Amino acid sequence: MLESVLELHEATSELSGRSHLGVRLLIADDSIVSRHLLEAMVRKWGYDPVVAADGLEAWKILQSDNPPRIAILDWVMPGLTGPEVCKKVREKFRSDSTYIYLILLSSKGERDDLIEGMESGADDYVIKPPDQHELKVRLRSGTRIIDLQTELVAAREALRDQATRDALTRLWNRGAIIEQLQRDLARGERENTPVGIVLADLDRFKSINDTHGHLAGDAVLREFARRMTANIRTYDAIGRYGGEEFLIVLPGCDKECAIIQAERMREILAAEPMSLGDSSLLVTGSFGVTAWRPGTHPHIEHLVRTADNALYTAKRQGRNR
Ligand code: GH3
Ligand code: MG
Ligand code: MG
Repeated sequence: MLESVLELHEATSELSGRSHLGVRLLIADDSIVSRHLLEAMVRKWGYDPVVAADGLEAWKILQSDNPPRIAILDWVMPGLTGPEVCKKVREKFRSDSTYIYLILLSSKGERDDLIEGMESGADDYVIKPPDQHELKVRLRSGTRIIDLQTELVAAREALRDQATRDALTRLWNRGAIIEQLQRDLARGERENTPVGIVLADLDRFKSINDTHGHLAGDAVLREFARRMTANIRTYDAIGRYGGEEFLIVLPGCDKECAIIQAERMREILAAEPMSLGDSSLLVTGSFGVTAWRPGTHPHIEHLVRTADNALYTAKRQGRNR
């Protein structure tokens, strides 16, 4: 009966794509014999074993940049015991998106030990010497948990990306750039440094859409985003504030500095026509600049309005300025 259940389990795992193939797995055991036995077993099942001869070595491996996501830890080891390694792993990765699945290995079969082991943060518990079939299915549950967790983290990151990025240009969206401005103003207050603010608006963009079509208009927005991103400093931020309007935050920049930066952006845009399929098109933009000075109240709405007024003046005076 057990055999047929295991075979069925195996068959369904084969169907589900054998996600454990090549998965790195830590084996920590101070007994050479036990270590080699475990290593041979998991290798046969397609895992890629990494071995440690004591608890300290195991802990070192688990702290590395890209740690194995599953670990089989012997209970009694020199340096650190299996449960001690579990505790350290759970403390270190508490707020981390990396989950490590921990299986304790013990020759003790007492119920109290099991509770102690699980309370140290282990996910599962196997009695030594492990039964092959049992260990195999338990490892498979572990890889399933790891796979699910990886998917969950990816989904969460995709959601965060969707919530903060503009889909067309991949720049920060309006909410995210305003938040960035808020953060930079708070830092400016703490460090007594100014924050430059530039509001940019493409010139006669409506007529680009009307003449060349909406898709060409989209391509212009993307190319504008690409040029700007390539030319701002790493700590500057640029976001899509509205349709063809962009907000650029320049921490550490006073008004003179922000004017120089805005002038550079204007030049980068106007210096070279954009190629759109067969045709090319010279696109210009108008820029409104202001800066927050330390010692004054950081009022976001007021700052953006000031930049917007300057932008309006640039438009009135003929654009591309
Ligand atoms: P000005 O020089 O005064 O800024 O003139 P303008 O034509 O650029 O300004 P206006 O505000 O009249 O037009 C902006 C246009 O931008 C209108 C709108 O259809 C277009 N637009 C907004 N978002 C997008 C977008 O995502 N893609 C495309 N292709 N067009 C967009
Ligand atoms: Mg415009
Ligand atoms: Mg506009």
